[in-house]
Amino acid sequence: MLDIKNGVSLLPYNTLKMNVKANEFVEISSVEDLRHLSSQKGFPERKKLILSAGSNVLFSGDFDGLIMHNEIFGISVVSEESDQVILKVNGGESWTDLVEYTIGQGWGGLENLTLIPGKVGAAPIQNIGAYGVEVKDLIVSVEAFDFTTGKQVVFSADQCQFGYRSSIFKTTAAGRYFITAVVFRLSKFPLLNLTYGPLKQAFEGKISVTIRDVSAEVARIRRSKLPDPDEIPNVGSFFKNPVVDASLADKIREGFPQVPVYPQVGGQLKLAAGWLIEQCGWKGYRIGEVGVHEKQALVLVNYGQATGAEILDLATKIQDSVFDRFGVILEPEVNIY
Ligand SMILES: Cc1cc2nc3c(=O)[nH]c(=O)nc-3n(C[C@H](O)[C@H](O)[C@H](O)COP(=O)(O)OP(=O)(O)OC[C@H]3O[C@@H](n4cnc5c(N)ncnc54)[C@H](O)[C@@H]3O)c2cc1C
Repeated sequence: MLDIKNGVSLLPYNTLKMNVKANEFVEISSVEDLRHLSSQKGFPERKKLILSAGSNVLFSGDFDGLIMHNEIFGISVVSEESDQVILKVNGGESWTDLVEYTIGQGWGGLENLTLIPGKVGAAPIQNIGAYGVEVKDLIVSVEAFDFTTGKQVVFSADQCQFGYRSSIFKTTAAGRYFITAVVFRLSKFPLLNLTYGPLKQAFEGKISVTIRDVSAEVARIRRSKLPDPDEIPNVGSFFKNPVVDASLADKIREGFPQVPVYPQVGGQLKLAAGWLIEQCGWKGYRIGEVGVHEKQALVLVNYGQATGAEILDLATKIQDSVFDRFGVILEPEVNIY
């Protein structure tokens, strides 16, 4: 039974702790709920937004529409072979709980993605990634409810068009599908990915490293670098790392020989947005209730009572200064509403 509430505070539902309200708010706990909701009169025209754990959204003000909060739970093994497990996880499950569960079972693949906040259904949206791994590498398929047709659809990993912090669900099909479940392929004989510098160093010369060890090290590094949103509200990386042409990277290198660059397939180069922001003097900056975290320049924080407008104002100033200094456009990673 759908219970649509009015004037609901979104404070508990976003990690930036924006104190805003939603005109309408409904908990979605099954595909059946989605069918009922989408068959309501006027549903297609309604302004609406799917909200999971709210760890990658910025509300610039009250949301004048319907928030659909993802509460579809459940995990099941689809098939198990001697070397791999195919696991179906419903979208409302917590990502960190899933990682912990798979490590407990001895199934490898998700260990580098330890402690990324959020729910499973949101993981494909921006193809979450950390420490050398992207979730696309583990995804077999994505199950979603199509608001346009009122039917369930299954996307293969290829059809999701995954890219760096991107997928079809964030680009051409944004808002059309409600991701109800994700199917993962996990390994019983994990091949560890220790390509990320600090992980490589931590395990240099060590034999018999386990997925539990990798997960613990990732958690240790993350806790030392990133503010806990429960203590200092934030959305992790506010901007994406920019990918630029070699000519621009070369120009920047002339003035800043120490600029970190990461070659991409196709000849472009990825720059570290945090480094660019830090060079412009923003690290640790604070104005009123908003600021740039003192240990990680890519993270904008709310010191308590910040409004969406204040955060956006700071974000624009950072973008302008990075552009003026390096000619690089910083795009937000966070979804702004
Ligand atoms: C401290 C911190 C660290 C972080 N570190 C990382 C990191 O290392 N790597 C990384 O990639 N991200 C990171 N993030 C960002 C964030 O954790 C991920 O993007 C996460 O997947 C968001 O999940 P969520 O449930 O909070 O989604 P939400 O913030 O609720 O939603 C994000 C977007 O997805 C859409 N959406 C959500 N659920 C669904 C669904 N079921 N169907 C369709 N659309 C949906 C929403 O409409 C919104 O546009 C970090 C965030 C924080 C706060």
